[in-house]
Amino acid sequence: MKPPPFSYHAPASVDEALTLLSSLPDAKILAGGQSLVPTMNFRLARPTNLVDINRISDLDYVREDDGKLTIGALARHVDFEKASAPEPLGRLLRTIAHTIGHLPIRVRGTFVGSLAHADPAAEWCLLTFTLGAEMVCDSSSGRRVVPAAEFFQTVFTTALDPAEILLEVRIPLLSSDTRVGFQEFSRRAGDFALVMALTTLKVDGDRISEARIGLGGVGGTPVRAIEAEASLVGQAPSEEAFAEAGQIAAAEFEPWGDIHGSPEYRKDLIRALTRRALAQPL
Ligand code: FAD
Repeated sequence: MKPPPFSYHAPASVDEALTLLSSLPDAKILAGGQSLVPTMNFRLARPTNLVDINRISDLDYVREDDGKLTIGALARHVDFEKASAPEPLGRLLRTIAHTIGHLPIRVRGTFVGSLAHADPAAEWCLLTFTLGAEMVCDSSSGRRVVPAAEFFQTVFTTALDPAEILLEVRIPLLSSDTRVGFQEFSRRAGDFALVMALTTLKVDGDRISEARIGLGGVGGTPVRAIEAEASLVGQAPSEEAFAEAGQIAAAEFEPWGDIHGSPEYRKDLIRALTRRALAQPL
């Protein structure tokens, strides 16, 4: 399939891109094109103007700023397959990067484009949501910072205004003693996951003092399993505590179903993947 006709614009600066976005009707940003182009080819999206940001080279960065990892709009998935952040966040990013599509997709697709696209099964949406990242949205009328918890609204829908660019995302670094885990299940390597679990644990002495359990693929946006998190605090980090947290997490949600997996199947995946992620410090 070929996309419907559109006009193509290739600005050389963020200011130029913002002017185009605010003045052109029905304009969309083109980043890696790994979601937008297939969607246009299937005629599910019909933007009349494409604003290609790939020539704005100062959007291509990953750097540490004030206790946060700051990722610019043109950093690609593949950039996170190598050391990109202090541990343990670096390990988490490396592990997850390898699970996104296939290599040619990771070479073109951008971290930030994935957040703007907001697929409910996107790994970077789960990571930024669970770790409490901030999204920096820019437009010709000003810049604003949106917490990840408010950014993801529902399937393929975010707090971004059509005239805004998601300029960068800021992810809090994790202290070196944080235990991190990530598990996902997909039917074939490279496919979108049916369910994913991302966990962080802090252990003080022999007791868990803080727990985060983020789940993806369960509904329209990533979610935190708050009751399962609470069940872990004050307990020793043990197989029994992790198995119980998995059971509680599964009971917290009524996941959706589709041709790839029924709600009951996804519930069982929540249970199993939560337990495994907690027990698998990366
Ligand atoms: P684009 O396709 O260029 O844009 C996507 C959307 O985001 C568009 O609406 C665009 O206007 C908007 N956008 C992009 N950048 C910005 C910005 N800076 N500001 C505002 N809006 C912006 N993804 C996963 O997470 N996990 C997977 O397992 C996975 N598997 C895949 C398998 C296949 C076969 C394919 C084709 C894709 C897969 N993807 C997967 C999607 C892929 O990772 C995309 O790269 C990603 O979803 C979007 O990033 P992009 O840079 O390609 O964005």
